[in-house]
Amino acid sequence: MRARISALFLTALLLCGQARTVTDAEVQRVHKAALLIDTHNDVPWRVVDGFDFGSKTGEWHTDLTRLKAGGLGGVFFVAYVAGSYVDGNRSAHRTLQLIDTIRRDIIGRYPADFALAGSVREIEDARKAGKIAALIGIEGGHAIEDDLGLLRQYYSLGARYMTLTHTNTNSWADSSGDQTKAGVKHHDGLTDFGKQVVREMNRLGMMVDISHTSDATFNNAVAVSTAPIIASHSSCRALANHPRNLTDAMITALAKKGGVVQINFNCNFLSEKFRAAQAAEETRLEARFQQVTAGKKLSEAEIDGTYQRLRLEMKLTRATLADVVDHIDHVRKIAGIDAVGIGSDFNGITCAPEGLEDVSKFPNLTRALLERGYSESDVKKIYGGNLLRVMRAVEIAAEK
Ligand SMILES: [Zn+2]
Repeated sequence: MRARISALFLTALLLCGQARTVTDAEVQRVHKAALLIDTHNDVPWRVVDGFDFGSKTGEWHTDLTRLKAGGLGGVFFVAYVAGSYVDGNRSAHRTLQLIDTIRRDIIGRYPADFALAGSVREIEDARKAGKIAALIGIEGGHAIEDDLGLLRQYYSLGARYMTLTHTNTNSWADSSGDQTKAGVKHHDGLTDFGKQVVREMNRLGMMVDISHTSDATFNNAVAVSTAPIIASHSSCRALANHPRNLTDAMITALAKKGGVVQINFNCNFLSEKFRAAQAAEETRLEARFQQVTAGKKLSEAEIDGTYQRLRLEMKLTRATLADVVDHIDHVRKIAGIDAVGIGSDFNGITCAPEGLEDVSKFPNLTRALLERGYSESDVKKIYGGNLLRVMRAVEIAAEK
């Protein structure tokens, strides 16, 4: 009965949007009890350029020390393959280079902290051993160079999801990133080969990730996949009108299929207020960027890192922790608590929300969720329970 009253009380708080008082001890307890799995961390892109994951540079969003402080139970390290690698057929080389970096320079170099995981069982085993489960995701379907054999090889190396596109439409799937770009040949979703890719992912037991894809590709993927699918790092279009985000219809279709939308922390995908301010602040930011980088030859990562640093230094508008909770809340309201998770996109974004500046800040999110009236069991689902359910279903579908 007590549990029922407290559940009713929490629901009442949620309905009237009132914050409840949460103690530090409660935050720590719930945070520790939940198995937090971030499905999208882009740090491999920095590590492959020589960044020592074990160093405490404080730059960008992720290193070993801050990851531990953030209390993560699992991380999908992403083999992000930029669309530029399509030129000259260098995508497979880049994918293998990044997978090697994840396995060797992150997991292999810090074996006391990480265990490579390729299944729900292995994630749970890592937890029991007191280690962070390290998983591999591939971002950008062009990584397979139109060859299912490469897809199978990536699976055998540990990849457990593939984002069907990045910002570029590839030869078998449309992206949300170039819908209006001249000269791009679109397919109105997935081609027949694209549908074969989805089926082969189902057969292997690799999660189909529809973040970055066009709405038509999303619809095709939902229709074709025999297993639940994920959005590894997307937010809600109803709250921030960006094509990278999912419409309410897409979120409910994903949920109906048993899938999950992992909320992205990019300010641009979280807040209309940020989007409006950004237009006005862009000129100032750009001028400052030109000033500090004049005469320097910077890598793509250094360019993004500089923008990120300047944004903080210049105290430009950012999204907030409350925005992240609003997106979680939105998915919960339209599709249920079982349909939402976390895919930060840390190290892939140049603006992170106030209060969630890097991977060490996750306990702030736990506090914000509890204050908003979410229960411990809700937090457990959002942080990893839902994702583990999808992974399990994908594993079972593969066995059939
Ligand atoms: Zn991305």
